[in-house]
Amino acid sequence: MYTKTVELLEVAPRDGLQNEKTLISTEAKLALIARAIAAGARRIEVTSFVNPRAVPQMADADAVAAGLPQREDVTYIGLVMNQRGAERALATGRIDQLGAVAVATDRFAIANQNQTSDGSVEAARAIIAQAQGAGRTAQVTIAAAFGCPFEGEVGQERVLAMAAALAEAGPVEIGLADTIGVANPAHVGQLVGRVRNLIAPIPVRVHFHNTRGTGLANVWEAVTAGARTIDASIGGLGGCPFAPGASGNVASEDVVYMLERAGIGTGMDLAALVDTSHWLGTIMDRTLPGMVARAPVFPKAS
Ligand code: ZN
Repeated sequence: MYTKTVELLEVAPRDGLQNEKTLISTEAKLALIARAIAAGARRIEVTSFVNPRAVPQMADADAVAAGLPQREDVTYIGLVMNQRGAERALATGRIDQLGAVAVATDRFAIANQNQTSDGSVEAARAIIAQAQGAGRTAQVTIAAAFGCPFEGEVGQERVLAMAAALAEAGPVEIGLADTIGVANPAHVGQLVGRVRNLIAPIPVRVHFHNTRGTGLANVWEAVTAGARTIDASIGGLGGCPFAPGASGNVASEDVVYMLERAGIGTGMDLAALVDTSHWLGTIMDRTLPGMVARAPVFPKAS
């Protein structure tokens, strides 16, 4: 049986934007973050502290962190890949939670982080310890948990072994990411259920890309299987520079429409999300892939 509420984690400022060729101003990123907060987001992946040569869109990470609204009720997450990134994020004094990444296959781990899959688990555990040592928390995401652009199928046993090793380090949650949008609902239901049983009481978060149109079905199945947090991106923006063919994240407004209409609370304001999706389309100068923002309002306000 599914839960009555889930948490949305807004990832547009980082995962949404990082693959965009056109550099978006720090001011526009901060406006997006402010709009997400106004729409109800209480956890936001605001930037990543990575090599600016590898990801030019995130070169202003320190400036974004410095400009974040002072909000006790909002958790700001900075993605980091290694100790140096973690040091940078913690030094800002504005990042509440580090986001670490462990990659399920060797070839993707080497392309993404220049280390093996096991090496990425060790690096993630070290980042979690670093956050804790600085009085902060950390979450971790298992990337390519449902399939790899280079190696193809990813066995559930591999993901379970990684989840067990990562859970020992004490992250606030473990995320399962369908980085390249190949997951199907049956696979999602199984893997979320198994990881959830394995790492309880640590909650499970999920991260889906809608590359093959299975994003929302996967969200539904993940919620049914007990995932507590859903990553989503306003407008359905998103991709990964190291994952060929990866397209947008599931759109925040589409996820909220589906869940709220089905009686599952998200704490989000759908009208404000749709408005922000339209605004973001003007910033990006194109129609964004999210669907609810392009459809008539339903039901009509009485
Ligand atoms: Zn992603």
